[in-house]
Amino acid sequence: MQILHVSAECYPVAKAGGLGDVVGSLPRFQNEKGNQASVIMPMYRTPYLYSHEWEVVHKGKTNLGHWNFDYTVIKEKSNEQGFPLFLLDINGLLDREKVYGYSDDTERFCAFQIAVVDWLNSWTELPAIVHVHDHHAALIPFMMQHCYAFKRLQFIKTILTIHNAQYQGAFGWDKTTYIPHWDSWKRGMLEWNGQINPLASAIKCCWKVTTVSNTYMNELKTMSNGLEPLFEYEKGKCSGILNGIDYAVWNPATDKYIDHHFDLNDFEAGKLKSKQLLCDRFGMSADKPLFVFIGRLVGEKGADLLPQVISDSFDYIGRKMNFLILGSGEPDTEAQLKGLQSISQGDYATYIGYNEALSHLMYAGADFLLMPSRVEPCGLNQLYAMRYGTIPLVRRTGGLLDTVIDMGDPGGYGIVFNHAAVGDITQAIYRATELYVQKTTFNSLREKIISLDFSWEKSAEEYLSLYKSFA
Ligand code: ADP
Repeated sequence: MQILHVSAECYPVAKAGGLGDVVGSLPRFQNEKGNQASVIMPMYRTPYLYSHEWEVVHKGKTNLGHWNFDYTVIKEKSNEQGFPLFLLDINGLLDREKVYGYSDDTERFCAFQIAVVDWLNSWTELPAIVHVHDHHAALIPFMMQHCYAFKRLQFIKTILTIHNAQYQGAFGWDKTTYIPHWDSWKRGMLEWNGQINPLASAIKCCWKVTTVSNTYMNELKTMSNGLEPLFEYEKGKCSGILNGIDYAVWNPATDKYIDHHFDLNDFEAGKLKSKQLLCDRFGMSADKPLFVFIGRLVGEKGADLLPQVISDSFDYIGRKMNFLILGSGEPDTEAQLKGLQSISQGDYATYIGYNEALSHLMYAGADFLLMPSRVEPCGLNQLYAMRYGTIPLVRRTGGLLDTVIDMGDPGGYGIVFNHAAVGDITQAIYRATELYVQKTTFNSLREKIISLDFSWEKSAEEYLSLYKSFA
C-alpha cells in the first residue's frame, strides 16, 4: 500500500515535540511491514538539510491568493530514514531555521499544503492513503475533495492524526482566497465557530480520524478547545492509537547521545554513571534522588506549577532530592525557574532551551521524571523515561493514564496523581523519595519498566488495519 504522510515536523530533520518523533519513525515500521510509506515536510534551513545529499524530484508553480509562487520538492538520496523523505521548498516562506513561531505561519503552512497537493496531482500513480498530521497539514483533505484543480485526487482516502487538538490553525474568512478555487457550497466543511478552522475541516473531511491515545480521544469530547461538539458528532470515525517509541533512537544500550550504555542486566551501574555526569555538570550530589522535567514550559505541561512544587518540596520534605529542569516556553515560567536558582544549595538547576543530547542524558541518569501535565495526548517522555529505567510521576490524564500504572495498584510501576496541583505533585515527590530509599523495591520497579514494550510494532499494525478497513 502506498501511503504519503504530510507533516510540519519529522525527526531528525526538524522536531519541536512528539509529532516529529512519531512522523520520523512510524513510516519506517509501515515499510518494514511491506508498504511504501513516505513523508513530505517543509524544507526548513536546519542542520540536517546541509549534512545530507538531495535530488530535485519536482518543480512547480502555484498560487497563494494573488501571489504566484515557485516551489521545489527534493528527496534525500540515501533513504537513510527507512522511507523516502521529501522536503518542499518555498522561498520567502519556508526558508527559515525554526519550524513555528513566525507571524506569517498561516501563510507558510497554507502555501506548503497547496504545493503538496499540487505536487501530488502530478503523480502518475496516486497513493492509496494520504495521512495528514495536525493542523499544519489539515486543509489538504478539503483541497483534495473540493478544490476544482485537484478533483483527480478526490477519491484518495485521507486520514488525520491529531497529536494536539489545542492548536487548530484557525484564521479569518478574509483569507478565504488562500484556498485554491473551491466549491463554495462546501463552505461548511471549512468552518468552525465563524472561522476557517483547518483541524475542524480535516475532522469533517477525512475518512478516519485518530489521536494518540484512547483516553485523549475520550477527553476530546469534553475538552478540545471549542471542538467538543464536533468530536461528539464525528465519534463514529474517531479512534485512539497509542504512539510507539523508536528503539533505534531510544535504546540505552546503543544511544549515540550517552557515553555509558546499559541494559536490563547492568542498569544500576549504567544509570549511576550517567547520573554522576549530570550531577557533576550541574553541581549536584549524586547521592540524592534526581528528579527531572523535560519539555515545553507551557500550561498544558503543568510547567507553571514547577517553581512552587520545588520550593514546597524543599520546605516540607526537606533537602533530600535534586531537581533538574530542561525546557523552554512561557517567559514567566522560564524567569521563575531561573530565579529559583538563587535558593539552590547544589540541589536545583535549570537549562532553558532545547537540547536533544542533554535530554537523552537526563532520561538515562535521572531517578524520576516529573510529568504534571494538564493535557497530554500521548506523551512520549514517560515512555522514553521508562525505557531508560527512570520512574515516571504522572498526572492521571490522556496517554499518561493509558501507559503508567500506579505502583500501589496491581502490576503497577509508576507514581500517578489526580490533579495538576502543587499539593498532589509534592505528595507524589514525597512518595518517590520514600521509594528511593527502599532499594530492593526501587530496583525491581526499574527492572520492570525497562522491560515494558512500547515499541511501534503493535501501533503500526493498528494503523495498517485502519487503512485496510476503508482502502
Ligand atoms: P509534546 O509533543 O506535547 O511537546 P511529547 O511528550 O509528545 O510532548 O514529546 C516531547 C518530545 O520533545 C520528547 O522527545 C522530548 O524529549 C522532547 N523535548 C521537549 N522539550 C525538549 C527540550 N527542551 N530539549 C530536548 N528535548 C525536548
